[in-house]
Amino acid sequence: MNINKLFNISDKISKLAEECEKELQDKYREIEHTSYINQAKILKAFQNNKVSTMHLGSSTGYGYGDVGREVIEKIYSEIFNAEDALVRIQFVNGTHAISTALFSCLKYGDELLYITGKPYDTLNETIGIEENNLSLLNMGVKFNYIDLKDSTYFDYEKIIEYIKSNKVKMIVIQRSRGYSTRKSISISQIEKVISKIKEIDNNIIVMVDNCYGEFVEELEPTDVGSDLCCGSLIKNIGGGLCHTGAYIVGKKQYIDLCAQRLTCPGIGKECGATLGQNRNILNGLFIAPSVVTNALKAMIFASLLSEKLNFKVSPNYIDKRTDIVQTIEFNNEKELIKFIQGIQKASPIDSHVIPYPWDMPGYTDKVIMAAGTFVEGASIELSADSPIRKPYIAYIQGGITYESAKLAIIIAIQNMLNEE
Ligand SMILES: *Cc1c(COP(=O)(O)O)cnc(C)c1O
Repeated sequence: MNINKLFNISDKISKLAEECEKELQDKYREIEHTSYINQAKILKAFQNNKVSTMHLGSSTGYGYGDVGREVIEKIYSEIFNAEDALVRIQFVNGTHAISTALFSCLKYGDELLYITGKPYDTLNETIGIEENNLSLLNMGVKFNYIDLKDSTYFDYEKIIEYIKSNKVKMIVIQRSRGYSTRKSISISQIEKVISKIKEIDNNIIVMVDNCYGEFVEELEPTDVGSDLCCGSLIKNIGGGLCHTGAYIVGKKQYIDLCAQRLTCPGIGKECGATLGQNRNILNGLFIAPSVVTNALKAMIFASLLSEKLNFKVSPNYIDKRTDIVQTIEFNNEKELIKFIQGIQKASPIDSHVIPYPWDMPGYTDKVIMAAGTFVEGASIELSADSPIRKPYIAYIQGGITYESAKLAIIIAIQNMLNEE
């Protein structure tokens, strides 16, 4: 079969792609090694908790005594090296989990500090950066943030001075870059800054927004001292099989509060029907290291191929990664749009649909998104999105199989280079 002919891929791009793949073999082995360690950790947790067929079952109504849900939360606790976990399909997305944690820990008069720059866009109304009657700000919670130094490192001087001269209750570290040009934050950087924070004030609650980070490194934020850590089940940790949900793991006292905030005071973790999703959560978790490996290999491939075509990328193919997000900077709006449309064209679902930039609620610039995914909006499946503004950067992530994601990258690059 001639794949190039099937998808109108030029000889030039096809050869370049082959070259990239050859050059990346050592890098691929490195990623597979990390995956092996994470896989072992997960297998051990399944065995230690004696997972059996009954845990793959379901509950309806109140969901009292759902053994599957309970074992899932034990397994998450073990994998994250955390005291407790809240893994629930009642979280509508990652933002909901983060918001729940913030509202659980912060009361009138408290202060919240982000030390990785501005929070992810969807949290603006939760925090009160944008007006909302129910925001933390309107509940009397102050907010501030400190940018990374050179968009890469924690600004230790500013952080230390700030927490010495203000009564900060909670600090959030956002591991992944979001829609910004800053670098993502590695586990070793997280470890270092947490130990410094705790040295100054052990009572500050440190939470890590772990979205896109799970299983990219050998350790997770809770392994290195974060009190809370959260993420989405339709990203890395769901392995592409979860239909919805999010998790929070960490210290028991805070998870208790989060559970009571998610449901209601007095009910906490006891309720929450699982509606047949326990199987997906367990199965997805089990394959997640492998799926993350596929996504990472595809992103490194995208990075090197784009670099060979003289586009600016971040991270580049040799950089050590801590999340699955890849950015490619295009020369103009037209290239960016054609690339994103190419990703959609190469998707298994809705390949015939052409995405265009639109005014998405909550964003200042127009946004274009490609997500031809089995689970709506699941960004562990190959997806790409971009605000239409200078510099023209595509944010790409995911890939449940390496082969499909690699092919999609080639098709998107070709689509972008084609003259109309
Ligand atoms: C995806 C993501 C979130 C949460 O987004 P949802 O779409 O609500 O799941 C939060 N922070 C970061 C850094 C993310 O990548």
